[in-house]
Amino acid sequence: MFAAGHFLFCLFTFYFCFFTFRLYNNHSVMSENCLFCKIIDGTIPSARVFEDDVCIAFNDISPQAPTHILVIPREHFDSLDKAETGHKETLGHLLLTAAAIAREKGFSEDGYRVVLNTNADGGQTVFHLHVHLLGGRQFIFPPG
Ligand code: AMP
Ligand code: ZN
Repeated sequence: MFAAGHFLFCLFTFYFCFFTFRLYNNHSVMSENCLFCKIIDGTIPSARVFEDDVCIAFNDISPQAPTHILVIPREHFDSLDKAETGHKETLGHLLLTAAAIAREKGFSEDGYRVVLNTNADGGQTVFHLHVHLLGGRQFIFPPG
């Protein structure tokens, strides 16, 4: 009886550790009621243009340029303001992904804009960090 209980306890501990490790290692830490987490898990549809194990990219629902793509990490963090040292690689990955998509879409030589709206004054409306990739027209600076 004791052996069976011990076995079940070990099994439970093993599965708990295994799934916890997988959750964090897959960068799939989700936040409830987050629009972009729901796009990642497919609850809300999107037109995906790219995905890998760190990020997904999809067309913005309200495009501000001929091409307007959002590149978002699978891991939920609210904004650049909430990014930590541990997000360095993810942030670099998002930028390199945006650059690769711009090359693939054929407007990288003409140029494009990458935007990271942060908090209220920065115009952020969805609090799951995202990189806007805008291309296919001339942009002015400074932006409004
Ligand atoms: P921001 O204002 O920087 O937080 O950007 C949020 C962006 O998400 C806006 O450009 C919206 O048009 C876009 N957006 C909101 N809902 C969706 C959706 N369901 N699918 C695609 N893009 C969306
Ligand atoms: Zn989220």
